[in-house]
Amino acid sequence: MSPLQPSLRARHRAVMPEWLTLYYDEPLELTHGEGRYVWDAEGRRYLDFFGGVLTTMTAHALPEVTKAVTEQAGRILHTSTLYLHRHMVELAERIAALSGIPDARVFFTTSGTEANDAALLLATTHRRSNQILAMRNSYHGRSFSAVAVTGNSAWSPTSLSPLQTLYVHGAVRTRGPYAHLSDDRFIEACVADLEDTLGQAHGNVAALIAEPVQGVGGFTAPPDGLYAAFRDVLDRHGILWISDEVQTGWGRTGDHFWGWQAHADSGPPDLLTFAKGIGNGMSVGGVVARAEIMNCLGANSISTFGGSPVTMAAGLANLGYLLEHDLQGNARRVGGLLIERLRAIAAGLPVVREVRGRGLMIGVELVEPDGSPSARAAGLALEHARERGLLVGKGGREGNVLRIAPPMTLTIAEAEEGAAALEEALRRAQHAIGEKERP
Ligand code: PMP
Repeated sequence: MSPLQPSLRARHRAVMPEWLTLYYDEPLELTHGEGRYVWDAEGRRYLDFFGGVLTTMTAHALPEVTKAVTEQAGRILHTSTLYLHRHMVELAERIAALSGIPDARVFFTTSGTEANDAALLLATTHRRSNQILAMRNSYHGRSFSAVAVTGNSAWSPTSLSPLQTLYVHGAVRTRGPYAHLSDDRFIEACVADLEDTLGQAHGNVAALIAEPVQGVGGFTAPPDGLYAAFRDVLDRHGILWISDEVQTGWGRTGDHFWGWQAHADSGPPDLLTFAKGIGNGMSVGGVVARAEIMNCLGANSISTFGGSPVTMAAGLANLGYLLEHDLQGNARRVGGLLIERLRAIAAGLPVVREVRGRGLMIGVELVEPDGSPSARAAGLALEHARERGLLVGKGGREGNVLRIAPPMTLTIAEAEEGAAALEEALRRAQHAIGEKERP
């Protein structure tokens, strides 16, 4: 680059919104990827433990997906939902069957935000109420309605809202007023909090929207069974349950295909939203609901790009690959080993307060020597990991949690490679914040 030419970063800054943040002191331009690896514009290779925010679900440049996209792109790019489209119907059939929701209908959107927006529209119309229950520390997207049910204030830039939202406790297990309780007592306390909150509502409440494992919130989760206990209360009031599976869907959590299944007694939610991984980078999102709920709208509704031909072809190929290669099983096995390895590393490092998660959805929470959340340590660890050729994500309300969510084809050797890089990055962060390692 000539010294007279502004850098890509400077051009980004000059033309993009300030709040569109970039990772790293020297932001990365990624130019291509293969499998679990990506390369930057200078040709450096990185092991990708974040998958573009849990979106590269199977692998970079997966030949099956590339072929499906290329073939469809060569036939027709766009027709709109006004015409029949074979791939769209086929993907809807597969997702309806996998959802566990009886008599399911699927509406495709282009993002997770739009999926949650559609779910909120359905629930509020069906229940004739604009009151919504959401979890504290949650994230559900960036639209006017999605930020209105987003408890994580770092991602909710306005308090203006078309909804009346009541925030419930329970999605953060190891911090907050009930952290010291046993799992059973924790659930009891959260159920009591839910009942109390409902006592403050004005009549009908439409729905509870919840991420089974909070993504942006720092991969925090309640004890298994919390949403089953909530479900009993919701059922008594006729309140619908929306499970936001944008990050937790498709077997990423290893033990389950959907995050809600960790609360299995409850049966399926009334509505389920998905996005991110299903398209492996193509913009596919959607909402699944029983026919009675999906069909409750009294006017037309359309998403021009939702369910477009190329994205549906990609989704079908990607989902087919995931199921045929049992990537849920791989997430359970390789993710289980990775969590164990990271816990062993963390045992000697006081900067790590907790390694949590399941499957290939692992959070590493970092703290200052006094136990307060350390965004500083997380920032340092992120930079050091990158220097060692590893990309990870960040999250948590205070930005102090490393998020690890590689493509679900991750091998054991790659998990080991990533863990070794992360170990060094965490050690360097530990030294920088000035505390000694445990012997
Ligand atoms: N729900 C959850 C749980 C998410 O993590 C996200 C994205 N981070 C969204 C919804 C919004 O999805 P999108 O960015 O595709 O609009």
